[in-house]
Amino acid sequence: MASDAKFRRVLLKISGEGLMGDREFGLDITTIDRIAAEVQSVRDLGVDVCCVVGGGNIFRGLSGAAKGMERAAADNMGMLATVMNALALQNALEARNIDTRVQSAIPMPSVCESFIRRKAIRHLEKGRVVIFAAGTGNPFFTTDTAAALRAVEMGCDALLKASQVDGVYSADPKKVKDAVRYDTLTFHDVLANDLAVMDASAISLCRENNVPIVVFDMHTDKAFAEVVLGRGRFTIINE
Ligand code: UDP
Repeated sequence: MASDAKFRRVLLKISGEGLMGDREFGLDITTIDRIAAEVQSVRDLGVDVCCVVGGGNIFRGLSGAAKGMERAAADNMGMLATVMNALALQNALEARNIDTRVQSAIPMPSVCESFIRRKAIRHLEKGRVVIFAAGTGNPFFTTDTAAALRAVEMGCDALLKASQVDGVYSADPKKVKDAVRYDTLTFHDVLANDLAVMDASAISLCRENNVPIVVFDMHTDKAFAEVVLGRGRFTIINE
């Protein structure tokens, strides 16, 4: 690990929305390539990187259920959407000669590996990027919870949440002009004030296992590497 990196191993959570660029739906290849470049800068610091990708740019279980689908079936579709995103990110990383493995919580052996914790750790030790797909593999969960779960399982020093804004605010800064931005928060602050960071089960899992959450703006160039070096703008949530 580079001496000035603050973390030895991190999990990056990217929402499906983060892969859309300016589009209304789906994947934007230029945006995905930019994210791959960000991941590459962190790998170049000698830091182990794993990722969890969301699927909201393609399908969300709740929207399907709102239109009358059975929730569990709709959630399965949402999880499949995350696999598509994971494969796109793998493709962009491998185009940059970064060894990458996708591990899915729903086995689909002709497409990618299945999630096996010890194997994923071995990949990280060999310098590969591991992308975890299909969330937790269970309906009624989110990829935020999957990110917290995998961060704990992989022994990550931090969960880095790529956001649309530069940290956590008291209200949505795009809607509320005088929303307050925080540099630091405790897990208790987030839960007690119902701050929109990640869902409560993700926050609780990180809290119980002492994994700090760092929220940063994914639109700023080199933001991921800056956060890993302890620089730039972000909100850190810990005990
Ligand atoms: N999902 C699920 N179980 C999980 C993770 C995800 O059922 O463990 C489904 C759920 O339907 C969700 C969809 O996959 O709406 C996409 O994930 P998410 O909404 O978390 O993606 P993001 O908001 O990060 O793009």
